Amino acid sequence: MTDYSRFVLESNLIGDRWTGADSGETIAVTNPATGAQIGTVPASGEAETMRAIAAAKAAFESWSKSDLSYRVGLMNRLNDALLDNQEALAWLLTCEQGKPLFEARGEIAIGAAYVRWFAEEIRRAKGEIVPAPTRDRRLLVTHHPVGVVGAITPWNFPSSMLARKLAPALAAGCTVVAKPASATPYSGLAWGKLCEEAGFPAGVVNILTGSARTIGATIMASPDVRKVTFTGSTEVGKTLIRQSADTVKKVSMELGGNAPFIVFDDADLDAAVEGAMVAKYRNMGQTCVCANRFFVQAGIHDAFVKRLAEATGALVVGSGTEEGVQQGPMIDLNAVEKVETMIADALDKGANVVTGGKRHGNGGTYFEPTVLTGATGEMMFASDEIFGPLSAVFRFETEEEALQAANATRFGLAAYAYTRDLGRAFRLNEGLQYGLIGINAGLITTVEAPFGGLKESGLGKEGGSQGLEDYFDTKYTAIAGLGL
Ligand code: NAP
Repeated sequence: MTDYSRFVLESNLIGDRWTGADSGETIAVTNPATGAQIGTVPASGEAETMRAIAAAKAAFESWSKSDLSYRVGLMNRLNDALLDNQEALAWLLTCEQGKPLFEARGEIAIGAAYVRWFAEEIRRAKGEIVPAPTRDRRLLVTHHPVGVVGAITPWNFPSSMLARKLAPALAAGCTVVAKPASATPYSGLAWGKLCEEAGFPAGVVNILTGSARTIGATIMASPDVRKVTFTGSTEVGKTLIRQSADTVKKVSMELGGNAPFIVFDDADLDAAVEGAMVAKYRNMGQTCVCANRFFVQAGIHDAFVKRLAEATGALVVGSGTEEGVQQGPMIDLNAVEKVETMIADALDKGANVVTGGKRHGNGGTYFEPTVLTGATGEMMFASDEIFGPLSAVFRFETEEEALQAANATRFGLAAYAYTRDLGRAFRLNEGLQYGLIGINAGLITTVEAPFGGLKESGLGKEGGSQGLEDYFDTKYTAIAGLGL
């Protein structure tokens, strides 16, 4: 076991101070693998949030005008700090969230990679000189940090979701007020400690925990917060979009998904099963880009189901900190009950369980990785995110039918397809109404590419060169009277 106690931070970072809630009240944080309490965090509310916004506003004055090389230098130190502490941060993450250690290590590494990427990308964030219609003018298009940024993050990737927001914001010259999810606050608060140790000035990064509704509403109502970046459920995202209207804030939203995973008759079966396993069972099926609906063409259906069920049944379930474990506990009992309800609904409507199907013998929030066939468009998971280790397999006959079914959802985050037909790959690229598409690949998230959904899955992009755009205001300046 690696000692992670220095990252069990039981206070908020506001300006240069680590403080509790004004009321003294706290929220308990538990380990989903054991149910044991890890510690507490402050139950902050409006007053603490206002102070964090004020600290971020004060720090913005100098941070936004600081030398680019200074900001890049600090970000490089932050990257090093993350990697130097990777093992402790991974243990912390596994203990509060449940995912196996190898996944947690990967999450810390990708968080560091986002920091490195945006430290590089900011050096290429060029403006433009646009050709003017008349000879005596020069037209400049320039980028400027948007101001104080509010960042609200979910429990499923509590470290890397904050990385995708903090890194571009800091690189662009913005200051941040962040609120991590209450179930997994320590991985968020750890960023505050690491930023402090890397030498970021006080007030540039502020992190507070507490009532989501109150902190969220305070951030949204503040005219001093010019942008809000949110990752979480579509329902909360819609509330925040509504709340942004009064102050006309920029918002970017990474919301829920309902990913189709389509396997055509001509697919490489080994590759399709391998891709399915990672697209479905990573983080116990609790990722926004998780395969939610498997559409499998009739000719390969039985062979694919057999192989998927074998691989699913062989997954090692246990505490994420144990060597060899591939599936940890789910985040809480509500999540377990949602999967159970979906399975019961599907069985009622004619589906069959091939493997798994019930709570795991470990008890608590462990659930058996499950494969179910005979799925239809009337079943709950056809329209709702499962967010658990359940593979629901639909059978289809034609490409047209698969495409239509894949798009029959209000979501549009990730989609996957396995085929060896190059023409079909391009038809899917054009036809799938999704922001992220994996052809013959089940894991496609990378810092170099823009991540973000269409339809009710979100607004804006994180990562890639596009991931900086939302943290800038773009100004156009016409300079006349130059005597040219
Ligand atoms: P959630 O319930 O929407 O919570 C996300 C964050 O919002 C948490 O910090 C939560 O705080 C906060 N929150 C809740 N109600 C709020 C309100 N009224 N005002 C302001 N903030 C509020 O989502 P979740 O269950 O943590 O995460 C799972 C969801 O996130 C799934 O739908 C998943 O698909 C989506 N997700 C999307 C992406 C993406 O990139 N598109 C990535 C990861 C996850 P508390 O924890 O204190 O309630």
